[in-house]
Amino acid sequence: MMAFLNIVILFVTIVLMEALSWAMHKYLFHGPLWFIHKTHHQEKHDWFELNDLFSIGFAAFALWLMWAGHTSLDYRFWIGTGISIYGSIYFIFHDWFIHNRFKAFKSSNWYLAGIRRAHKIHHKSMRKSPSEEFGLLVASKKWFKN
Ligand SMILES: [Zn+2]
Ligand SMILES: [Zn+2]
Repeated sequence: MMAFLNIVILFVTIVLMEALSWAMHKYLFHGPLWFIHKTHHQEKHDWFELNDLFSIGFAAFALWLMWAGHTSLDYRFWIGTGISIYGSIYFIFHDWFIHNRFKAFKSSNWYLAGIRRAHKIHHKSMRKSPSEEFGLLVASKKWFKN
């Protein structure tokens, strides 16, 4: 029963992370924290962007949770693991596949092509607003056409 509960916690965390990052992106990053997030919307990028601090912050929080719950493998460990898995997916899809920060990773998979299209639309705007498509893994279905 415990193992089942932990798996539920893990998956719920991953789903909630997409919702949380959508809300943070829309209301904080394109709001009061725009001065940091704008480093990700500029035409020219340094390899390290100030915006990366958000990822580092999430990673530190996830590691801290995993560390706090590691002896009894309680809910903190599984929430921390869920955040780490979401962070890894985000990193692979967003930083690697969409923005090509490393060696090119190409795919014509309809899902990946769709989220890339949606995120590129988000980047069309170099300003705080207006902008659209604040999520990463979930996007409006109009982008998923072949
Ligand atoms: Zn943005
Ligand atoms: Zn981006």
